[in-house]
Amino acid sequence: MTQSEYDVVVVGGGPAGLQAALTIGRVHRSVLLLDAGTYRNDPTDHLHNFITRDGTPPAQFRAEAHRELATYDTVTVRSEAVATVAPTGDNAAGDGFTVTLASGTQVLGRRVLLATGVRDTLPTTPGLADLFGSVVAHCPFCHGHEYAGGHVAVLGNGPHASRLALLVAPIASRVSVLTDTGPLDAPTVSLLEGAGIFVRDGAVTGVAAADSGARVSFADGDDEEVIGMFVTTALHQAAPFADQLGLALLPSGGIEVDMMGRTSLPGVYAAGDLAYVAALPMAFASVLTAAAAGMAAGAACVGDLLMIDHPAPVMA
Ligand SMILES: Cc1cc2nc3c(=O)[nH]c(=O)nc-3n(C[C@H](O)[C@H](O)[C@H](O)COP(=O)(O)OP(=O)(O)OC[C@H]3O[C@@H](n4cnc5c(N)ncnc54)[C@H](O)[C@@H]3O)c2cc1C
Repeated sequence: MTQSEYDVVVVGGGPAGLQAALTIGRVHRSVLLLDAGTYRNDPTDHLHNFITRDGTPPAQFRAEAHRELATYDTVTVRSEAVATVAPTGDNAAGDGFTVTLASGTQVLGRRVLLATGVRDTLPTTPGLADLFGSVVAHCPFCHGHEYAGGHVAVLGNGPHASRLALLVAPIASRVSVLTDTGPLDAPTVSLLEGAGIFVRDGAVTGVAAADSGARVSFADGDDEEVIGMFVTTALHQAAPFADQLGLALLPSGGIEVDMMGRTSLPGVYAAGDLAYVAALPMAFASVLTAAAAGMAAGAACVGDLLMIDHPAPVMA
């Protein structure tokens, strides 16, 4: 094995990739983790809903992970972006993949584990993006308790907005659905109002920081102050490797994997927000579940290498 060849190359250094590297390193397989340095939760200062880590700054979470990985001799972490991933030969037989970094350097991975995550596209309402991750959130399990006892708005008129409003209702003192681009149908209005949720029609023209939250402006000249606001974001792959490798995708654009993170291409694994099993409606996108998926996919990579290196019937 040359110096630039690894049992596994992990692309991505969020919770999924970090945990995968730990799992692989703990059985002394060589693993290279490559991290471009941008993370889905960059907009927020604290991560929640991870037992023992509730309220931890994401940068602190990653720094602790790096300290732990540094104690394993077979784990290498590099802060570099990857440009391409391509099969080198017969990947089913273990020939592996050529991973080309943005700098042009190439490394070889007998297995590749993609953990590059997704990115959020927000509604285009002026001012919204500046407040995303603090006053504006997308997931009540991540940020919701922080708005307890206040007036919370939900922007949108689709089924997801109604679901968000019902989810937030026990936390907030008042919940308003701001339909913005068009009215809700009568049964939905009746359902929401029956649950004590206010429905406000009319275009939202902007959102700006206020003393304890945000001020929402409407096209009719009125405005309302809220402590927090929920939006639905559109998700897209953060990196082009699924397309480069021709991996099977789910209708949402997520990479289809099995329970162990195997993609449609032998030797390529995926873990974290970018991938999920077809039985789920969407990725269970959280720090804890991304790490859990990284552990499963990391262990599966190791199992895969055992089968290739020791193809005796006892291993079948
Ligand atoms: C505003 C906000 C707040 C959130 N708050 C919470 C919360 O409180 N609790 C919670 O559980 N979840 C929270 N989440 C969700 C959580 O951030 C994700 O579920 C989690 O980060 C997914 O981890 P991941 O490893 O799949 O991807 P990411 O954390 O996005 O990591 C992706 C990694 O891939 C790397 N990468 C991408 N492209 C390349 C490339 N070309 N080359 C090399 N590396 C590359 C990136 O640099 C990064 O290291 C929040 C999300 C958002 C948007």
